Amino acid sequence: MPTTALLWYRRDLRVHDHPALTRAVREFDRVVPVFVLDDALLGGRFASGPRTAFMLGCLRALDADLRALGSGLVVCHGRPEAELVALAADARAEAVLWTSDVAPYARARDARVTEALRDAGMQAVPQGGAYAVDVSEPRTQGGTPFIVFTPFFKRWRTLERRVVHPAPAELAPLPGTVARGRVPSLDALCLQDDVVEPFREPGEQAARQALARWLDGPMERYADRHDDVAGEGTSGLSPYLRWGCVSARECEEGAERRGGPGAEAWMRQLCWRDFYAHVLLLHPGNARHEFQERFRQLEWADDDEALEAWRAGCTGYPLVDAGMRQLARTGWMHNRTRLVVGSFLTKDLHLDWRHGEAHFERMLLDGEPAQNNGNWQWIASTGVDPAPYFRRMFNPVRQQRKFDPDGEYVRRWVPELRDVPVDKLAEPWTMSADEQAAAGCVIGRDYPAPIVDHAQERRRALDRYRAVGT
Ligand SMILES: Cc1cc2nc3c(=O)[nH]c(=O)nc-3n(C[C@H](O)[C@H](O)[C@H](O)COP(=O)(O)OP(=O)(O)OC[C@H]3O[C@@H](n4cnc5c(N)ncnc54)[C@H](O)[C@@H]3O)c2cc1C
Repeated sequence: MPTTALLWYRRDLRVHDHPALTRAVREFDRVVPVFVLDDALLGGRFASGPRTAFMLGCLRALDADLRALGSGLVVCHGRPEAELVALAADARAEAVLWTSDVAPYARARDARVTEALRDAGMQAVPQGGAYAVDVSEPRTQGGTPFIVFTPFFKRWRTLERRVVHPAPAELAPLPGTVARGRVPSLDALCLQDDVVEPFREPGEQAARQALARWLDGPMERYADRHDDVAGEGTSGLSPYLRWGCVSARECEEGAERRGGPGAEAWMRQLCWRDFYAHVLLLHPGNARHEFQERFRQLEWADDDEALEAWRAGCTGYPLVDAGMRQLARTGWMHNRTRLVVGSFLTKDLHLDWRHGEAHFERMLLDGEPAQNNGNWQWIASTGVDPAPYFRRMFNPVRQQRKFDPDGEYVRRWVPELRDVPVDKLAEPWTMSADEQAAAGCVIGRDYPAPIVDHAQERRRALDRYRAVGT
């Protein structure tokens, strides 16, 4: 009797460098790849039409890649613990393998699945593979989990790495006893994709091409160019890493092989991804509240109008608005602008960072609990890797002059400012009436006047933070 295992895909939608797939192929005669559409995620607190649309594209691509290897993707819809036990019975599988995850919901779900499989007499086999290292492992010299990035990075560099796995040469056909299902449309899931110009094309092949292009060229200049918001100074691989269309380990290995300062700086960034996964795994409470207890007393404003202006990219601060409009249009935003809009929300508008986290989760193709929460708490100064809160207050005008000096980014995403002269572009409200007429941009009519005064709000933020912290 041939042995069979299910390979439960979640956010590891690839065939290359997939440790759980490699192990399944090595240890079982037949592997049945499956994805379970889970309403708790599709409709949960971080439901997202744009990201689900991207995911469905990745699933279609994965199905095609698995078919090319001789198999295919089984698609089910329901509670994973019920669907997997039923499918395993249909396929006469004795084990289910998957890539382990760090987020609280994922871990609770995996515990339920493990129990259900054990009750049914089947084996549950979680396996690493989502990060460059095993993020559950690192500990400080005092034996505690890391909460500061730099020492984590030093330790991370010394940790053992697994080899990069090739894709399987072929897979056994799906058993005739299983219903294959199909990847549904977004409509059928009652979700809407409001992103009109998605940042990336879904799927592993697109991801691998993007990685190869990045490693063979632009990565070299990453150290100097990663904050250039208009250019292609960063890899743009985050949606692929989010959905596991490429593995972080393969990215790292490719960078290491090429070497140089660009590669070094980029690998450090990959380490941030592992760091925040480590943090959420070991501090699951961060998903709901501030890591630093004293900041749980912070007072946040209650201002729907300001929140809506921020979401819509109508704050009157061009760099903030450009970032928010890039997000709305493409489902992605440059890291530098994420920092600027995050600082603006929490320290100019005094709005709770959880509003920002939720909006990003709704819009980002790369939206992911560990990274999004870690970064929002970083910019709100409430999280791990602490620094004095006044050090993470960004002046949107100065940031624009520094990181978009020619105004290319702002003009691209805020077209009503296209003809504003560059010396006025960071503060268009300082244009005279004649200048506004000449630029075809009357402030208050064609483009909003600033909804707050940065200098004043900065002082207010300092008072708010000082009232609960030092
Ligand atoms: C408020 C805020 C929210 C964010 N939310 C997310 C999110 O939901 N998902 C997400 O993947 N990233 C998030 N980031 C981190 C970062 O902005 C993106 O990972 C990065 O912009 C992706 O672009 P890239 O692939 O070109 O990055 P590159 O600069 O090419 O970096 C390579 C990879 O390293 C990882 N990385 C880089 N910077 C960070 C970082 N600061 N934290 C964690 N990982 C990092 C990403 O996986 C990225 O793809 C957030 C940042 C901020 C400030």
